[in-house]
Amino acid sequence: MSLPSTHHVVLHEENGEYEVIKYTSVPTPTITTPHDIIVKNAYAGINFIEAYFRKGIYKAPLPYIFGREASGEVVAVGDAVNNLSVGDKIAYLSPGTFAQYTKIEDSHFRHIKLPANASDEDLKIYGSVFLQGLTALTFVHEAYPVQAGEYILVWAAAGGVGKFLVQLISNLGANVIALASTKEKLDIAKDLGAKYVINYKEEDVVARVKEITNGEGVAASFDSVGKVTFETSLNALKRKGTFVSYGNSSGPVTPFPLSVLTPKNVRLLRPSLNGYIETQQEWDFYSKKLLELIEQGKVKFDVSKTYDLKDYVQAAKDLEGQKTTGKLTLKIPQ
Ligand code: NDP
Repeated sequence: MSLPSTHHVVLHEENGEYEVIKYTSVPTPTITTPHDIIVKNAYAGINFIEAYFRKGIYKAPLPYIFGREASGEVVAVGDAVNNLSVGDKIAYLSPGTFAQYTKIEDSHFRHIKLPANASDEDLKIYGSVFLQGLTALTFVHEAYPVQAGEYILVWAAAGGVGKFLVQLISNLGANVIALASTKEKLDIAKDLGAKYVINYKEEDVVARVKEITNGEGVAASFDSVGKVTFETSLNALKRKGTFVSYGNSSGPVTPFPLSVLTPKNVRLLRPSLNGYIETQQEWDFYSKKLLELIEQGKVKFDVSKTYDLKDYVQAAKDLEGQKTTGKLTLKIPQ
Protein backbone atom coordinates (compact mmCIF):
# COMPACT_ATOMS: atom_id res chain seq x y z
CA MET A 1 0.00 0.00 0.00
CA SER A 2 1.47 3.37 -0.89
CA LEU A 3 1.09 6.02 1.77
CA PRO A 4 0.65 9.73 1.13
CA SER A 5 3.85 11.77 1.46
CA THR A 6 2.39 13.94 4.23
CA HIS A 7 -0.27 13.45 6.90
CA HIS A 8 -2.15 15.50 9.45
CA VAL A 9 -1.09 15.50 13.09
CA VAL A 10 -1.66 17.52 16.25
CA LEU A 11 1.59 18.56 17.90
CA HIS A 12 3.33 21.21 19.94
CA GLU A 13 6.81 22.61 19.35
CA GLU A 14 7.12 24.54 22.60
CA ASN A 15 5.61 24.20 26.05
CA GLY A 16 2.67 26.38 26.92
CA GLU A 17 -1.07 26.79 27.05
CA TYR A 18 -3.66 25.95 24.38
CA GLU A 19 -2.12 28.31 21.80
CA VAL A 20 0.87 25.99 21.33
CA ILE A 21 -1.39 23.18 20.01
CA LYS A 22 -1.00 22.94 16.22
CA TYR A 23 -3.00 20.97 13.66
CA THR A 24 -0.51 20.63 10.87
CA SER A 25 0.94 18.52 8.07
CA VAL A 26 4.23 16.61 8.43
CA PRO A 27 5.97 13.88 6.40
CA THR A 28 4.26 10.49 6.75
CA PRO A 29 6.43 7.98 8.65
CA THR A 30 8.13 5.23 6.69
CA ILE A 31 9.50 1.82 7.60
CA THR A 32 13.18 2.25 8.42
CA THR A 33 13.96 -0.79 10.59
CA PRO A 34 12.77 -4.41 10.32
CA HIS A 35 10.71 -4.08 13.54
CA ASP A 36 8.69 -1.01 12.50
CA ILE A 37 4.92 -0.98 12.11
CA ILE A 38 2.80 1.81 10.65
CA VAL A 39 -0.84 2.11 11.64
CA LYS A 40 -3.45 4.19 9.84
CA ASN A 41 -5.49 5.48 12.77
CA ALA A 42 -9.29 5.55 12.97
CA TYR A 43 -9.85 6.90 16.51
CA ALA A 44 -7.48 8.16 19.18
CA GLY A 45 -8.58 8.39 22.81
CA ILE A 46 -7.93 11.67 24.60
CA ASN A 47 -6.30 11.61 28.03
CA PHE A 48 -5.41 14.24 30.58
CA ILE A 49 -1.72 13.36 30.32
CA GLU A 50 -1.49 15.46 27.13
CA ALA A 51 -1.86 18.60 29.25
CA TYR A 52 1.23 17.63 31.25
CA PHE A 53 3.36 17.13 28.12
CA ARG A 54 2.10 20.39 26.65
CA LYS A 55 2.86 22.37 29.79
CA GLY A 56 6.21 20.65 30.33
CA ILE A 57 5.19 19.01 33.63
CA TYR A 58 6.17 15.74 31.93
CA LYS A 59 9.17 16.00 29.60
CA ALA A 60 9.24 14.81 25.99
CA PRO A 61 11.39 15.71 23.01
CA LEU A 62 9.83 18.46 20.84
CA PRO A 63 8.05 18.60 18.49
CA TYR A 64 5.74 16.23 20.36
CA ILE A 65 2.83 14.62 18.54
CA PHE A 66 0.06 14.21 21.11
CA GLY A 67 -1.79 10.97 21.81
CA ARG A 68 -1.23 7.78 23.74
CA GLU A 69 -3.84 5.31 22.43
CA ALA A 70 -5.69 4.58 19.20
CA SER A 71 -7.30 2.04 16.91
CA GLY A 72 -6.77 1.56 13.23
CA GLU A 73 -5.38 -0.62 10.49
CA VAL A 74 -1.81 -1.82 9.99
CA VAL A 75 -0.63 -0.41 6.65
CA ALA A 76 3.08 -1.29 6.63
CA VAL A 77 5.37 -3.67 8.55
CA GLY A 78 9.13 -4.26 8.61
CA ASP A 79 10.62 -7.57 7.47
CA ALA A 80 11.09 -8.90 11.02
CA VAL A 81 7.50 -8.31 12.12
CA ASN A 82 5.77 -11.68 12.33
CA ASN A 83 2.91 -11.00 14.75
CA LEU A 84 1.03 -8.47 12.58
CA SER A 85 0.27 -8.14 8.87
CA VAL A 86 -0.87 -5.35 6.60
CA GLY A 87 -4.67 -5.15 6.84
CA ASP A 88 -4.89 -6.20 10.52
CA LYS A 89 -7.18 -4.02 12.58
CA ILE A 90 -5.79 -3.25 16.02
CA ALA A 91 -6.26 -1.17 19.16
CA TYR A 92 -3.08 -0.11 20.89
CA LEU A 93 -1.17 2.08 23.32
CA SER A 94 1.67 4.17 21.91
CA PRO A 95 2.82 7.77 21.82
CA GLY A 96 2.06 9.85 18.74
CA THR A 97 -1.52 8.79 17.98
CA PHE A 98 -3.10 12.20 17.29
CA ALA A 99 -2.08 11.61 13.71
CA GLN A 100 -3.34 9.94 10.58
CA TYR A 101 -0.39 7.52 10.71
CA THR A 102 1.60 6.35 13.71
CA LYS A 103 4.87 4.49 13.52
CA ILE A 104 5.66 2.02 16.29
CA GLU A 105 9.26 0.90 16.48
CA ASP A 106 8.79 -2.38 18.37
CA SER A 107 6.38 -5.06 17.21
CA HIS A 108 5.82 -6.13 20.84
CA PHE A 109 3.96 -2.96 21.68
CA ARG A 110 0.78 -3.06 23.76
CA HIS A 111 -1.96 -3.98 21.30
CA ILE A 112 -4.87 -6.29 20.67
CA LYS A 113 -6.03 -7.53 17.30
CA LEU A 114 -9.61 -6.69 16.37
CA PRO A 115 -11.77 -8.86 14.13
CA ALA A 116 -11.49 -8.15 10.39
CA ASN A 117 -15.15 -7.06 10.40
CA ALA A 118 -14.71 -4.60 13.31
CA SER A 119 -17.16 -1.75 12.72
CA ASP A 120 -16.49 1.97 12.96
CA GLU A 121 -18.17 1.90 16.38
CA ASP A 122 -15.88 -0.96 17.49
CA LEU A 123 -12.85 1.05 16.40
CA LYS A 124 -14.12 4.01 18.39
CA ILE A 125 -14.65 1.98 21.56
CA TYR A 126 -11.42 -0.05 21.40
CA GLY A 127 -9.34 2.98 20.47
CA SER A 128 -10.62 4.77 23.57
CA VAL A 129 -11.02 2.19 26.31
CA PHE A 130 -7.59 0.99 27.32
CA LEU A 131 -5.68 3.83 28.90
CA GLN A 132 -8.27 4.95 31.40
CA GLY A 133 -9.84 1.49 31.83
CA LEU A 134 -6.54 -0.23 32.57
CA THR A 135 -5.45 2.57 34.89
CA ALA A 136 -8.49 1.98 37.06
CA LEU A 137 -8.34 -1.81 36.79
CA THR A 138 -4.67 -2.19 37.66
CA PHE A 139 -4.87 0.39 40.44
CA VAL A 140 -7.77 -1.26 42.31
CA HIS A 141 -5.95 -4.59 42.18
CA GLU A 142 -2.35 -3.52 42.68
CA ALA A 143 -1.94 0.06 43.91
CA TYR A 144 -4.54 -0.57 46.58
CA PRO A 145 -6.21 -3.99 46.50
CA VAL A 146 -9.73 -2.93 47.43
CA GLN A 147 -11.64 -5.20 49.83
CA ALA A 148 -15.40 -5.68 50.21
CA GLY A 149 -16.99 -3.50 52.85
CA GLU A 150 -14.33 -0.80 52.81
CA TYR A 151 -15.00 2.89 52.28
CA ILE A 152 -13.05 4.29 49.33
CA LEU A 153 -12.77 7.91 48.19
CA VAL A 154 -12.78 8.52 44.41
CA TRP A 155 -11.92 11.99 43.12
CA ALA A 156 -13.10 13.20 39.67
CA ALA A 157 -15.60 10.35 39.89
CA ALA A 158 -17.41 11.25 36.64
CA GLY A 159 -14.16 11.63 34.69
CA GLY A 160 -12.64 9.10 32.33
CA VAL A 161 -10.67 7.12 34.91
CA GLY A 162 -13.17 8.01 37.63
CA LYS A 163 -16.12 6.29 35.95
CA PHE A 164 -14.14 3.06 35.75
CA LEU A 165 -12.97 3.37 39.36
CA VAL A 166 -16.49 3.89 40.69
CA GLN A 167 -17.74 0.76 38.93
CA LEU A 168 -14.75 -1.48 39.66
CA ILE A 169 -14.62 -0.55 43.33
CA SER A 170 -18.38 -0.98 43.72
CA ASN A 171 -18.18 -4.37 41.96
CA LEU A 172 -15.60 -5.43 44.56
CA GLY A 173 -18.21 -4.82 47.24
CA ALA A 174 -16.66 -1.66 48.67
CA ASN A 175 -18.50 1.58 49.37
CA VAL A 176 -17.52 4.34 46.97
CA ILE A 177 -17.59 7.89 48.26
CA ALA A 178 -17.56 9.83 44.99
CA LEU A 179 -16.32 13.39 44.71
CA ALA A 180 -17.08 15.77 41.87
CA SER A 181 -17.70 19.44 41.22
CA THR A 182 -21.30 19.44 39.93
CA LYS A 183 -24.61 17.71 40.56
CA GLU A 184 -24.63 16.32 37.01
CA LYS A 185 -21.26 14.67 37.64
CA LEU A 186 -22.37 13.30 41.03
CA ASP A 187 -25.50 11.84 39.43
CA ILE A 188 -23.31 10.00 36.91
CA ALA A 189 -21.22 8.55 39.75
CA LYS A 190 -24.35 7.52 41.66
CA ASP A 191 -25.78 5.79 38.58
CA LEU A 192 -22.56 3.83 38.25
CA GLY A 193 -22.76 2.52 41.80
CA ALA A 194 -21.29 5.15 44.13
CA LYS A 195 -22.91 4.72 47.53
CA TYR A 196 -22.22 8.28 48.70
CA VAL A 197 -21.56 11.45 46.74
CA ILE A 198 -19.98 14.71 47.87
CA ASN A 199 -19.83 17.98 45.96
CA TYR A 200 -16.36 19.05 47.07
CA LYS A 201 -17.04 22.63 45.97
CA GLU A 202 -19.96 23.00 48.33
CA GLU A 203 -19.36 20.57 51.20
CA ASP A 204 -16.68 19.93 53.82
CA VAL A 205 -15.25 16.70 52.42
CA VAL A 206 -13.42 15.54 55.55
CA ALA A 207 -16.43 16.21 57.79
CA ARG A 208 -18.74 14.30 55.43
CA VAL A 209 -16.29 11.40 55.16
CA LYS A 210 -16.04 11.19 58.96
CA GLU A 211 -19.84 11.22 59.22
CA ILE A 212 -20.22 8.45 56.60
CA THR A 213 -17.47 6.26 58.13
CA ASN A 214 -18.47 6.70 61.79
CA GLY A 215 -15.49 8.92 62.46
CA GLU A 216 -12.95 6.44 61.14
CA GLY A 217 -12.02 7.73 57.65
CA VAL A 218 -11.58 5.90 54.35
CA ALA A 219 -9.37 2.88 53.67
CA ALA A 220 -8.02 4.52 50.51
CA SER A 221 -8.24 7.70 48.50
CA PHE A 222 -7.79 7.50 44.71
CA ASP A 223 -6.74 11.07 44.06
CA SER A 224 -6.06 12.27 40.50
CA VAL A 225 -6.49 15.97 41.25
CA GLY A 226 -3.11 16.35 42.95
CA LYS A 227 -2.08 19.72 44.27
CA VAL A 228 -5.30 21.15 45.68
CA THR A 229 -6.71 17.92 47.13
CA PHE A 230 -3.60 16.46 48.76
CA GLU A 231 -4.41 17.65 52.25
CA THR A 232 -8.07 16.70 52.06
CA SER A 233 -7.19 13.18 50.90
CA LEU A 234 -4.69 12.83 53.72
CA ASN A 235 -7.15 14.05 56.32
CA ALA A 236 -9.93 11.79 55.04
CA LEU A 237 -7.87 8.60 55.43
CA LYS A 238 -8.27 6.26 58.36
CA ARG A 239 -5.35 4.96 60.41
CA LYS A 240 -3.19 2.75 58.14
CA GLY A 241 -5.11 4.07 55.13
CA THR A 242 -3.63 4.16 51.62
CA PHE A 243 -3.21 7.32 49.59
CA VAL A 244 -3.09 6.57 45.86
CA SER A 245 -1.99 9.86 44.29
CA TYR A 246 -2.06 9.24 40.57
CA GLY A 247 -2.54 12.54 38.73
CA ASN A 248 -1.97 16.28 38.59
CA SER A 249 -5.23 17.65 37.19
CA SER A 250 -4.89 20.73 39.42
CA GLY A 251 -1.07 20.71 39.29
CA PRO A 252 1.63 18.50 40.83
CA VAL A 253 1.53 17.93 44.59
CA THR A 254 3.74 20.44 46.40
CA PRO A 255 6.76 18.75 48.01
CA PHE A 256 6.02 17.86 51.65
CA PRO A 257 7.86 16.37 54.63
CA LEU A 258 7.46 12.58 54.89
CA SER A 259 6.43 13.07 58.48
CA VAL A 260 2.91 14.06 57.33
CA LEU A 261 2.37 10.33 56.84
CA THR A 262 3.34 9.45 60.41
CA PRO A 263 0.33 10.33 62.61
CA LYS A 264 -1.88 7.73 60.91
CA ASN A 265 0.79 5.38 59.48
CA VAL A 266 -0.44 6.25 56.01
CA ARG A 267 0.82 4.34 53.00
CA LEU A 268 1.40 6.58 49.96
CA LEU A 269 1.77 5.50 46.32
CA ARG A 270 2.34 7.48 43.14
CA PRO A 271 1.75 4.74 40.56
CA SER A 272 1.65 4.81 36.76
CA LEU A 273 -0.33 2.50 34.50
CA ASN A 274 2.79 1.61 32.54
CA GLY A 275 4.38 0.14 35.65
CA TYR A 276 1.56 -2.41 35.89
CA ILE A 277 1.43 -3.49 32.23
CA GLU A 278 5.11 -3.62 31.47
CA THR A 279 5.37 -7.31 30.66
CA GLN A 280 3.47 -9.10 27.90
CA GLN A 281 1.79 -11.29 30.55
CA GLU A 282 0.58 -8.26 32.48
CA TRP A 283 -0.78 -6.60 29.35
CA ASP A 284 -2.49 -9.83 28.21
CA PHE A 285 -3.98 -10.43 31.66
CA TYR A 286 -5.35 -6.95 32.28
CA SER A 287 -6.46 -6.11 28.73
CA LYS A 288 -8.38 -9.39 28.53
CA LYS A 289 -9.90 -8.85 31.96
CA LEU A 290 -11.03 -5.30 31.09
CA LEU A 291 -12.71 -6.39 27.86
CA GLU A 292 -14.40 -9.32 29.64
CA LEU A 293 -15.85 -7.00 32.28
CA ILE A 294 -17.24 -4.75 29.56
CA GLU A 295 -18.55 -7.60 27.41
CA GLN A 296 -20.25 -9.17 30.45
CA GLY A 297 -21.90 -5.82 31.22
CA LYS A 298 -20.15 -5.61 34.61
CA VAL A 299 -18.47 -2.36 33.61
CA LYS A 300 -20.21 0.16 31.37
CA PHE A 301 -18.13 2.10 28.90
CA ASP A 302 -19.01 4.54 26.18
CA VAL A 303 -17.47 7.56 24.52
CA SER A 304 -19.08 10.73 25.88
CA LYS A 305 -17.93 13.00 23.10
CA THR A 306 -16.13 12.64 19.77
CA TYR A 307 -14.13 15.52 18.27
CA ASP A 308 -12.48 15.77 14.87
CA LEU A 309 -8.69 15.59 14.99
CA LYS A 310 -8.45 19.24 13.91
CA ASP A 311 -10.58 20.25 16.91
CA TYR A 312 -8.30 18.78 19.58
CA VAL A 313 -7.67 22.24 20.98
CA GLN A 314 -11.38 22.51 21.88
CA ALA A 315 -11.30 19.05 23.46
CA ALA A 316 -8.28 20.07 25.54
CA LYS A 317 -10.06 23.23 26.71
CA ASP A 318 -13.17 21.25 27.63
CA LEU A 319 -11.24 18.52 29.47
CA GLU A 320 -8.92 20.82 31.37
CA GLY A 321 -11.76 23.25 32.01
CA GLN A 322 -13.65 20.56 33.98
CA LYS A 323 -16.49 20.68 31.45
CA THR A 324 -16.45 17.03 30.44
CA THR A 325 -17.50 13.67 31.83
CA GLY A 326 -16.24 10.22 30.86
CA LYS A 327 -14.23 9.49 27.76
CA LEU A 328 -13.41 11.89 24.95
CA THR A 329 -12.03 10.67 21.66
CA LEU A 330 -10.76 12.00 18.34
CA LYS A 331 -12.01 10.87 14.94
CA ILE A 332 -9.07 10.75 12.60
CA PRO A 333 -9.67 11.89 9.00
CA GLN A 334 -9.30 8.96 6.56
P1 NDP B 1 -10.80 13.33 33.73
O1 NDP B 1 -11.89 12.94 32.79
O2 NDP B 1 -10.84 12.77 35.11
O3 NDP B 1 -10.77 14.90 33.78
C1 NDP B 1 -10.21 15.60 34.82
C2 NDP B 1 -11.20 15.87 35.95
O4 NDP B 1 -10.46 16.24 37.10
C3 NDP B 1 -12.14 17.03 35.69
O5 NDP B 1 -13.30 16.69 34.97
C4 NDP B 1 -12.47 17.48 37.10
O6 NDP B 1 -13.57 16.76 37.65
C5 NDP B 1 -11.21 17.09 37.92
N1 NDP B 1 -10.48 18.28 38.31
C6 NDP B 1 -10.40 18.75 39.56
N2 NDP B 1 -9.67 19.85 39.62
C7 NDP B 1 -9.28 20.13 38.36
C8 NDP B 1 -8.53 21.18 37.79
N3 NDP B 1 -8.00 22.17 38.52
N4 NDP B 1 -8.34 21.17 36.46
C9 NDP B 1 -8.85 20.19 35.71
N5 NDP B 1 -9.57 19.16 36.21
C10 NDP B 1 -9.79 19.13 37.52
O7 NDP B 1 -9.40 12.98 33.05
P2 NDP B 1 -8.74 11.54 32.80
O8 NDP B 1 -9.70 10.48 33.16
O9 NDP B 1 -8.10 11.53 31.47
O10 NDP B 1 -7.56 11.53 33.86
C11 NDP B 1 -7.85 11.62 35.24
C12 NDP B 1 -6.58 11.78 36.00
O11 NDP B 1 -5.91 10.54 36.06
C13 NDP B 1 -5.60 12.80 35.44
O12 NDP B 1 -5.00 13.49 36.51
C14 NDP B 1 -4.60 11.90 34.76
O13 NDP B 1 -3.36 12.50 34.63
C15 NDP B 1 -4.57 10.73 35.70
N6 NDP B 1 -4.08 9.50 35.09
C16 NDP B 1 -2.98 8.92 35.61
C17 NDP B 1 -2.49 7.77 35.10
C18 NDP B 1 -1.30 7.14 35.73
O14 NDP B 1 -0.77 6.18 35.16
N7 NDP B 1 -0.84 7.60 36.87
C19 NDP B 1 -3.08 7.14 33.92
C20 NDP B 1 -4.27 7.80 33.46
C21 NDP B 1 -4.74 8.95 34.03
P3 NDP B 1 -14.48 17.53 38.75
O15 NDP B 1 -15.00 18.73 38.01
O16 NDP B 1 -15.51 16.59 39.15
O17 NDP B 1 -13.54 17.89 39.86
